[in-house]
Amino acid sequence: MNLIKIGKFIADCRKSKNITQEQLAEKLYITDRAVSKWERGLSLPDADKMLDLCSILDINVNELLNGEKINMKDYEKKTEELLVELSRQEEKKNKRLMMDMWMILIIAVIFYIGILTISCITLEEGPLLGTIIVISTFTFIAACFYALKLEVDAGYYECHNCHHRFTPTYFEALITPHVHTTRFLKCPKCGKRTWSKKTMTK
Ligand SMILES: [Zn+2]
Repeated sequence: MNLIKIGKFIADCRKSKNITQEQLAEKLYITDRAVSKWERGLSLPDADKMLDLCSILDINVNELLNGEKINMKDYEKKTEELLVELSRQEEKKNKRLMMDMWMILIIAVIFYIGILTISCITLEEGPLLGTIIVISTFTFIAACFYALKLEVDAGYYECHNCHHRFTPTYFEALITPHVHTTRFLKCPKCGKRTWSKKTMTK
């Protein structure tokens, strides 16, 4: 998705409607700085503002995200391109989340083992050592929970039986057995419990 092109398109449509950035912002209940950011290609309108923005500018979401007016003749092709692009972006975002998850887990394990080893070697048994063990254990558990949250947020799990792709609750993900990122989850569609593989797109 080309943010610069989209921004220029928003600015052009706005000018052809003879409205200022301030007036557009007012109609959408946002700041004119947000509008200016879109038009400079620094950000994309939030999903909940897109429909209102399109109706004010007399365009559709497909045209907005393509950054140009679309002929009826090209419509199907452009829609397909847009869907492919959106799915590619989702995949990229989810892969990044999974990378973050692994980084957090690896760092947490290294720190946890490191702190415990160093403290046990250098400190006498006593309240200080006890406190360090308790705090580092809680921190380690918190990091594991956060990593689990990232893993559940990234992508979907695919039911082995009906191939429906779904997102489990954190609690479900926490209590079900898993091997690597494949989890033994109950499918909300067919109701069967299967070893559901992680996928990055819907
Ligand atoms: Zn299923």
